[in-house]
Parts: sequence; C-alpha cells; structure tokens
Amino acid sequence: NTFAEIDLGEALNLNIRRCKYVKPTPVQRYTIPISLVGRDLMACAQTGSGKTAAFCFPIISGIMRGQAVQRPHGFRTVFPLALILSPTRELSCQIHMETKKFAYQTGVKVVVVYGGAPINQQLRELERGVDILVATPGRLVDLLERAKVSLQMIRYLALDEADRMLDMGFEPQIRKIVEQTDMPPPGGRQTMLFSATFPREIQRLASDFLSNYIFLTV
Ligand code: AMP
Repeated sequence: NTFAEIDLGEALNLNIRRCKYVKPTPVQRYTIPISLVGRDLMACAQTGSGKTAAFCFPIISGIMRGQAVQRPHGFRTVFPLALILSPTRELSCQIHMETKKFAYQTGVKVVVVYGGAPINQQLRELERGVDILVATPGRLVDLLERAKVSLQMIRYLALDEADRMLDMGFEPQIRKIVEQTDMPPPGGRQTMLFSATFPREIQRLASDFLSNYIFLTV
C-alpha cells in the first residue's frame, strides 16, 4: 500500500513523490479513500498522525479534477472552493505550508488568514485569488463581516482539532461560518471533521455538520 497506487492526479502524485511520502500513515490509509469517493467523515486522530495530508490530498485532488467552476465576481470579494479551519495561528500556518507544498504546480491556490496579525497583508494575498483558504475562526468571521470572503462556493470543508477549537470558545464562530457554506443541492459540500477526542459537544457538531458520515478512530 503506497501513494503511487492511489490516483490523486498526476501533479499531486508527483509532489507526493518529491516530498518522499511513500507509504500512507494509518489515518491517511483509512480516510483518503473515503474522501475520494465524496463521503463525509469524522476521524479521531492525534497530532503527528499525518492528518494534514489526510484532508489536504483529497481537497487538492478534487479541485484539480473538478470542472472549472464559474465563480461570481464580487467587488473585492473572493470565493474559495475549500475551507480548512484550525484553532491557532501556528497550526494554520503549518497546514498552509504543507498544503502549499502539495499544491505546487497544480494550479490550486492556497491562502492562510489568522488573527493577531495585520489584516491588510492577508487581504492583498486574498485578492490574488484563492482556492483553498486555511483560517482561524475569529479572523475568518471578521473577513466575512467585511464581505472580503464569501463561502457560497465551498465544496470542501475540513475542521482540524475540533475539540481544541471548542475548548478555545470558538463554537459560535464555527457555527456562523459553517452556516454560510450551505449550498443548495446538487452542489453541497463535503465535510471532514478531525478531533483528538470525541466528547458530547463534538458528537453534536458532527451530527449538525456531517451528512451520512463515516466514523473512524485510528
Ligand atoms: P501531521 O500529523 O499532519 O502534522 O504530520 C506529522 C508529520 O509527518 C509532518 O511532518 C508530515 O510532513 C509528516 N508526514 C505525514 N504523512 C506522511 C507520510 N505518509 N510519509 C512521511 N511523512 C509524513
């Protein structure tokens, strides 16, 4: 079982080889095939288990293969196709770096936004175009309120370290964000929820945000 046997699209498979990823980690082995067929999933996985690649490979692959999507032109509003939410600036930057590495020469554009840093530089990045937006919840709500970002074209939604986001008090922001990603069928988004623990509050998020989902513990 190697990445070479999983068809993720030529450019992405090449990047995976270049980064010397040969064998999928357990969380990757179980989640990637599920995500590639379009199913929602909730996975219990720890940091260091390789979960970043587990959600970013199917997203990059899906966007690369998707038909060119006609996106609306808003006045300085951008329409990403995928959103990855994470609790902290550090984690968001790590996810951004990993995702960018694998999106190299795929034509898929990745941008990160987070709080505690000036917004202007992030706005300039966004204005150059974005397919995959990596964000912390507070800064994203700010951008939504300023109408700099619209989530109406979101096809893929990943929530990383969901338990930590709830511990940090981000539930209202997360709900506000996710509400804005609901496209009417047959559009609809594919959702991946990653959490190290699975307490009642996370179960509630899973039942509110996921449809007909597969539950995995690794
Ligand atoms: P993560 O849990 O996503 O933060 O990944 C932990 C570390 O493992 C990161 O440094 C990744 O670059 C690395 N990694 C993830 N998946 C693989 C893989 N299949 N083969 C080799 N290294 C990997």
